[in-house]
Amino acid sequence: MADRNPTLFFIHTFGCQMNQADTEIVSSVLGASGYEPAPDEDSAGIILLNSCAVRENAVDRIGNFLQQLKGRKRKHRSLVVGVIGCVPQFEKQPFFDAHPWVDFVAGPDNYRSLPSMIANARQGARQSRLEYDHQETYAGIDPVRTGKISAFLPVMRGCNNSCAFCVVPVTRGRERSVPLQRVVDETRELADSGFREVTLLGQNVNSYLDAVRGLDFAGLLEAVSRAVPGMRIRFTTSHPKDISEELVRVIAGMPNICRHIHLPVQSGSTRILQLMRRGHSREAYLRKIDMIRTIMPDAALTTDLISGFCTETDEEHRETLSLMDEVRFDSSFMFYYSVRPGTWADRNLPDDVPEGLKKARLQEVIERQQAISLERYLEDVGRTVEVLAESESRRASSRLMGRTGTNRAVVFERGGFNPGDLVRVRITDATSATLAGEAVG
Ligand code: SAM
Ligand code: SF4
Repeated sequence: MADRNPTLFFIHTFGCQMNQADTEIVSSVLGASGYEPAPDEDSAGIILLNSCAVRENAVDRIGNFLQQLKGRKRKHRSLVVGVIGCVPQFEKQPFFDAHPWVDFVAGPDNYRSLPSMIANARQGARQSRLEYDHQETYAGIDPVRTGKISAFLPVMRGCNNSCAFCVVPVTRGRERSVPLQRVVDETRELADSGFREVTLLGQNVNSYLDAVRGLDFAGLLEAVSRAVPGMRIRFTTSHPKDISEELVRVIAGMPNICRHIHLPVQSGSTRILQLMRRGHSREAYLRKIDMIRTIMPDAALTTDLISGFCTETDEEHRETLSLMDEVRFDSSFMFYYSVRPGTWADRNLPDDVPEGLKKARLQEVIERQQAISLERYLEDVGRTVEVLAESESRRASSRLMGRTGTNRAVVFERGGFNPGDLVRVRITDATSATLAGEAVG
């Protein structure tokens, strides 16, 4: 049996970009206490599972993974296992009680306590830390970056909205923002250490507010863009009810801000949007799209869609398809609705669309999106686009993989270029998910 080193840790990360960013923060917190990242899970004396609670199938995947970890813990009694993030924060003490072999659980506001929880676990004390701390932004902690070219930078945490289907307000608590100067400084540090791209993260970045200077997200984006003119700036997620003309004008006016807006609509039916408590109608969403396209006709728009929300009729499902036809999103994240215990929808609405029908509607949505994406991507054939090369292609090292400012994936013959280079690529072919081409300079 391989020896596990008690000072080495390994983190399995599930879920969204915010969780990936949190894993980098956790690595830094552990590093400051003398722990080091393990080269592989088998050598680690500490295994953490950074979990996602947003959809039922994510939680099921974590449940299966926990069973595997339980087996490892049985074999190596000294192994320390912690579950962190949204699942324990959502399920609270019953989760901890149901997994007696897990040494500790910690919610998203409790990562600074991890070193002491590990030490306590080694003394035989199980611990759960699930308090909310509405001031915690982890400002002052330098994340341990996993990449070298593109980085995530959380600028706000939490969500004050109350969408009927969503667990995030419970798992991540109230909104709070990282001070503007801190975001600017961190972005400069990223640029100085060779990063070429940063994605500013928040559940709803439009709610960003700098307490010192009173600046909103448009102000932050402009300040960051000016601070690092050589770096590409991305951001996600924007909420349709809050995205402002001022913000869109900032994006349009700054050459290093990517012309891509992720604007989740969820449904094309105003009645369903009301039931979802989204705070916008179909018509209001389409007005925002018009506003964006008037200011920035070449902007890429992407979205999130949920099929089969409570009481959704066939006609309302077709309204989602017609909205997709109208907007012609570049791409979408598409899900079928899964009821999350304790949410407003769970307490107040019937989950009455049969699972088979939810999945059939989702399949139609996926097929429609694929057709639209293919049409849009084919429009790029023959054009020359600017691509930030991120890595060698998985299939052949003679090719690089990168993204356009509009977030389209491009695979291209590399010529003399390397990951990290900004390359002009002539597009020769397209599928619904990827562009293909060759470097021209
Ligand atoms: N804050 C972002 C926003 O408002 O758009 C998104 C946050 S959520 C982590 C990401 C996406 O998961 C949502 O936009 C929604 O489409 C999907 N989602 C959330 N709860 C869901 C549920 N109960 N069932 C299916 N999809 C869900
Ligand atoms: Fe969830 Fe709505 Fe907040 Fe997004 S805006 S995190 S969907 S509650």
